[in-house]
Amino acid sequence: MNVLVLNAGSSSLKFQLIATDPAAITADKDVRLCRGQINRLGGEVVIEVLMRDGLRKKFAASTRDMQASLEHLMQWIASDASGIGEIRALSDVNAVGHRVVHGGELFGESKLITDEVLKGIEDCIELAPLHNPNNIKGILAARQVFGPKLPQVAVFDTSFHHSIPEHAYLYAIPYHLYRRHRIRRYGFHGTSHRYVSERYRRLRGISREQTNVITMHLGNGCSAAAIRGGECIDTSMGMTPLEGLVMGTRSGDLDPAIVGLIATKESLSPSETEALLNTQSGLLGISGLSNDMRVLQEELEGHDDRRVRLAIEVFCYRARKYVGAFLAAMGGSDAVVFTGGIGENSADVRARICTGLEWAGLKVDEKRNQQTVGSEGQISTDDSSLHAFVIPTDEELLIARDTVRCVLGEPHFSRSESPSTADGKRL
Ligand code: AMP
Repeated sequence: MNVLVLNAGSSSLKFQLIATDPAAITADKDVRLCRGQINRLGGEVVIEVLMRDGLRKKFAASTRDMQASLEHLMQWIASDASGIGEIRALSDVNAVGHRVVHGGELFGESKLITDEVLKGIEDCIELAPLHNPNNIKGILAARQVFGPKLPQVAVFDTSFHHSIPEHAYLYAIPYHLYRRHRIRRYGFHGTSHRYVSERYRRLRGISREQTNVITMHLGNGCSAAAIRGGECIDTSMGMTPLEGLVMGTRSGDLDPAIVGLIATKESLSPSETEALLNTQSGLLGISGLSNDMRVLQEELEGHDDRRVRLAIEVFCYRARKYVGAFLAAMGGSDAVVFTGGIGENSADVRARICTGLEWAGLKVDEKRNQQTVGSEGQISTDDSSLHAFVIPTDEELLIARDTVRCVLGEPHFSRSESPSTADGKRL
């Protein structure tokens, strides 16, 4: 099956075209035909495509909205100009898989999109007002471009966290606020946490029940997940993706009283204060320089700037503290798995997080750590009792595989799958 994976945002539409089916999934033989993104939606769009041979193509289109731009992209993909032999017409696309940010309490697994499912995604808009409306736009655009008969599947960022027990997802605020406004921890990055935990399981040759890991997704957004017996039992992100670890521009955890204090002292409205915590905080806020870890590390090496050092230290300390908390929550873990742009590429950040976890049995193998950059592997010593691994995430592959399984009506696809190889880099 040729599956088009879509991730619709406010000004961009990311896509990947993946050829996969049950046999390919079992044999890890999924083929990535192309990937890329449509940028500057709302203005005249620019389409960037990375072909499977590594060639990059970039072209402008005179379309502005998502539907027309997707149509333009698909026409190009189906034309001789693209050179993608598998897609000669729109009908060569067999299904579309969508990343949907919030499934609330409604969706504990990926779903074939029906009008009822679409209504459920709409019901979750108040939980993710910035994301779900764009995801819905992507679904409707694909419906227009491919016709209503083409199967479409929603894969939710929140689904993997559905197994979190009540005592871990409830906030200690009046219970009626949970009932009335659904205020609770939902967690995000679920597709990534699920992918790397299942890949870890495959690497170690163990069953789902034997999978006890802490997964650390460290990218622009950062979150940790405690996975016991293959199921997520806690995660660092909460009602929104603002809680938890320090991120590029997000504060992560803070004393809730600070919110009102900032609003009063700085004469900001509640939404302006929330925006400050989302867009001007984290690594950027502390360093005053950048939200980009690579830039900060280069600056640290070059000039040893005090605030840059502090930003990295706060980032790594918070991450280590969560590992410790989750070790306690899980009653011990077999491994810490790093993923995301920072987790996959920064040996220095990984070493800083793991240093101080020797008491828990984690000893980093310096050479392995330095050598594992953008690739998969163990970075702990063989005699560690708590191991550390790097596993590049591949959310699109998981979405494509879930799409295939939903379309074929295979049961239990969301929790029993063992996806594997990530053969490429994110664009
Ligand atoms: P993501 O959101 O997963 O794409 O991750 C983006 C983050 O990864 C940014 O903070 C980048 O600076 C960081 N990153 C990517 N490559 C490196 C690297 N080689 N060293 C340190 N940070 C990196």
